[in-house]
Amino acid sequence: MSFKKIMIVGAGQMGGGIAQVAAQAGLEVLLNDIDGKLIEQRLAFIAKLLDKSIAKERITADQKTEIMARLIPSTDINAAADADFIIEAASENMAIKEKIFRTLDGVAKPGVILASNTSSLPITEIAAITNRPELVIGMHFMNPVPVMKLVEIIRGIATSDACYKNVEELTIRLGKTPVEVNDYPGFISNRVLMPMINEAVYCVYEGVAKPEAIDTVMKLGMNHPMGPLTLADFIGLDTCLAIMEVLYAGFADSKYRPCPLLRKMVKAGWLGKKSGKGFFEYA
Ligand code: NAD
Repeated sequence: MSFKKIMIVGAGQMGGGIAQVAAQAGLEVLLNDIDGKLIEQRLAFIAKLLDKSIAKERITADQKTEIMARLIPSTDINAAADADFIIEAASENMAIKEKIFRTLDGVAKPGVILASNTSSLPITEIAAITNRPELVIGMHFMNPVPVMKLVEIIRGIATSDACYKNVEELTIRLGKTPVEVNDYPGFISNRVLMPMINEAVYCVYEGVAKPEAIDTVMKLGMNHPMGPLTLADFIGLDTCLAIMEVLYAGFADSKYRPCPLLRKMVKAGWLGKKSGKGFFEYA
């Protein structure tokens, strides 16, 4: 299936990144958010990134103009009626996503695929809200989207093979590498990554070593580009805790219990880089 016009719902860091990549791949993009100012800010941010690409001679000024012209701001979700494909990248909250998917299901043309960029919520549950569960799928981009190659494509229990195939093709068209995953808590990325981060937090909690030492062992000993505690600070400790809660509830297995120190730091407002303090300090 060839898509011409896609809609991105949510113009945050992920939605903006997906919109940029799609516009660079030649698609017309409706960039939707409830807040029009946020869309304008996001478009200005994309324009700045494209200026950097011009400076590095990766694109020309004319190409920037064409890419920006393909990005159409929209605060009206009913514009979804015009889209050939829709990706939801709104805040990670089931109540918000439920409302969006119910609306999109009513507005989008029959046959249009509704994808979610959720990093932890069950695709099967989101699909069940709609009357087109076979056309609902997870498209989990990584942050920052223009840089990171991977997209986990998550099949809900009812997702059709045709829907998967179309999403796989689109992912490749966006210059990304698709990986097929079935819908279970944390998919692959967060199921493997988050318990490692949580275990690193347990090492601090139990006094095994200082955060610097733990990160050094994983960087120099395991060849990780970034230590797990630095990575946790970048992701946001609140996000890490939320994902551990999804794993813990989803598997009802004590091996996924969030470390008490992680809970304590989140309660203190020590959320990592975005709050200036996590396992490390940020200016
Ligand atoms: P963000 O907070 O930067 O952006 C969320 C945007 O959604 C905001 O601009 C907000 O105004 C908008 N929004 C909220 N309700 C809306 C509605 N009803 N209609 C339209 N827009 C609405 O968040 P983000 O980091 O971009 O995350 C978005 C999604 O991507 C989440 O599901 C998150 O789990 C997922 N994700 C995040 C990352 C990451 O590293 N940040 C990585 C992969 C996936």
